[in-house]
Amino acid sequence: MNKIVPKPGIMDIALYEGGKSKVDGVSNVIKLSSNENPFGPPEGAKESVRRALHEMHRYPSGDHLALRTAIGEVHGLDPARIICGNGSDEIIHFLCQAYTAKGDEVIHTEHGFAMYKISARVSGATPVEVPEKERVTDVDAILAACTKKTKLVFLANPNNPTGTMVGLAEIERLAEGLPPQTLLVLDGAYAEYVEGYDGGAKLVETRENVVMTRTFSKIYGLGGMRIGWGYAPKAVIDVMNRVRGPFNLSNVALAAAEAAVRDTDYVEKSRNENLRLRTWLAEALMEHGVPSDTSTANFVLARLSSPEEAEACDAYLQRQGLIVRRVTGYGLPSALRISVGDEPACRRVAHCIGLFKAGER
Ligand SMILES: *Cc1c(COP(=O)(O)O)cnc(C)c1O
Repeated sequence: MNKIVPKPGIMDIALYEGGKSKVDGVSNVIKLSSNENPFGPPEGAKESVRRALHEMHRYPSGDHLALRTAIGEVHGLDPARIICGNGSDEIIHFLCQAYTAKGDEVIHTEHGFAMYKISARVSGATPVEVPEKERVTDVDAILAACTKKTKLVFLANPNNPTGTMVGLAEIERLAEGLPPQTLLVLDGAYAEYVEGYDGGAKLVETRENVVMTRTFSKIYGLGGMRIGWGYAPKAVIDVMNRVRGPFNLSNVALAAAEAAVRDTDYVEKSRNENLRLRTWLAEALMEHGVPSDTSTANFVLARLSSPEEAEACDAYLQRQGLIVRRVTGYGLPSALRISVGDEPACRRVAHCIGLFKAGER
């Protein structure tokens, strides 16, 4: 008899479903399902990658010193408290692996990012879902859900897929109220889209129980390269480095990220264009009778009137060559998450949703 089975919890993991990128029978699709930067990566990143290709037979840097130094310079942070990962997903993974085990609890919010649950389960821990208030993080509900077993609290700010965020005063109140054994993880995947927001970096510096994660997958346009980073108290960095594989980032990815982080003009240009088009898109959808919360990220959560209507709208958009994201798995069956594309893409998706609402199928 076959007795080969994974450890408890693994088979409870629901496979992560990424944004679709193809529709059968439709060519030239417009992909608005993964919150990618429609303008791609900065030119300097591509140039750095071309140069790094000559070194592909060499092992990459194991301490990521050059990238950590660049991030430190650009963001005004201490490189010794930065850790780089294969996407920020890997930082989430390090935290779960290092700080949780069977019996421990990992808090995430009602419409929080799927990876928190997945990583918690991989470590044998129990994910605990906490209600939001009308699609906004509820700090009091998180504090009320904490127990002696709570090891990690994951909070994306701005949140995906809601696009909403809470202010730093609320975050600080949360950090202050957590039990002594609990680490707060602020996921800043969309922080660059909020002008003047540091993702919680200052909080990391003034407290011992806050970690910030960031990514190159969104505003830097490097999702395919898989690079993210974390900023944490030195003690937490020391812990995470013990579970990190020594060569978790390729030299190509490291080169791309270093060039990208130094291109602050590109970030500013992308942020401004996103703001302009996101505002336009949300208003256009509203005119077609499709409301959304004010988004602080690079997507809009469009609320249709029912799960059936959301499903029909998604199918209609796919036939028009537009891929958006259904978010039923995030507890939002009546909504569609639409990434802010370039101007023609925004116009096209708004136009098609208008036709759909006017009765076209
Ligand atoms: C996209 C996203 C990430 C980034 O993941 P990577 O592994 O860095 O590509 C992290 N958190 C949230 C909430 C996201 O939406």
